[in-house]
Amino acid sequence: MNFYGDYHTHTTASDGISSLEDNVQEAVKKGLKELAVTDHGFANPKRFAMTPKKFAMQREQLDGIQKEYGDTIALYQGIEADLIGEDGTLDLTEEQISQMDVLIMGYHSFAKAKSFRDWRRLYWNAYLRVIKYPSKQTIARNTKAMINAIKRYPIDIVAHLNHLFKVDCYEVTKAAADYGVLIELNAKHFDFSHDLFEKMLTTSANFIVNSDAHYYKLVGGFSEIETFLSQHSFDPARIVNLERKPAFKKR
Ligand SMILES: [Zn+2]
Ligand SMILES: [Zn+2]
Repeated sequence: MNFYGDYHTHTTASDGISSLEDNVQEAVKKGLKELAVTDHGFANPKRFAMTPKKFAMQREQLDGIQKEYGDTIALYQGIEADLIGEDGTLDLTEEQISQMDVLIMGYHSFAKAKSFRDWRRLYWNAYLRVIKYPSKQTIARNTKAMINAIKRYPIDIVAHLNHLFKVDCYEVTKAAADYGVLIELNAKHFDFSHDLFEKMLTTSANFIVNSDAHYYKLVGGFSEIETFLSQHSFDPARIVNLERKPAFKKR
């Protein structure tokens, strides 16, 4: 399988351990035509959080690298925003969203919730992650929060669905289809069974394969996802970065 680009990667601007240059170089080496840098959003612990200043600096840096590489690779800047409220609130402003080339939504237990109530209702279950089977009520609440965000924001990609934040994947995928949001097949955190993926394929949603690389060598590393996908039959066009350039929302 040939993938056009990797649209979920981290750098030292958040919790990645490689520089933007190293990630770009690796993407080119792996034959990718596009790369998006999507560091963690604004509600993360200070050291890992993107700030407006860091974001602007990264854009400048990205523009410089883009000039250097010319047509070899197209670079994008986005954010992996955090779901921080039951009402679907994400940790970024409309103004910040307008500056994104790609907007990813993820759930991370280390981000700061919108309020104590949101922390109790959405985050507490992450601390109980040793419990494999969260209650139906928790799953329903998580699902609703994620769908609220899908309805509220121009999200391009839902990252690592079902990872540490159990949702009804079928319901989220259905909502994603309705709002033109892609469901990610994440090489770092992959929490779908074959049966579950088959059920998700019965919706009209599309998918995107990303590495979520925090280290440059993992950029464009999709082999496990390829093995998984090879066991399913589906229209290849539903994996939007398979062989071709995906389109993201205009902002
Ligand atoms: Zn993430
Ligand atoms: Zn990530």
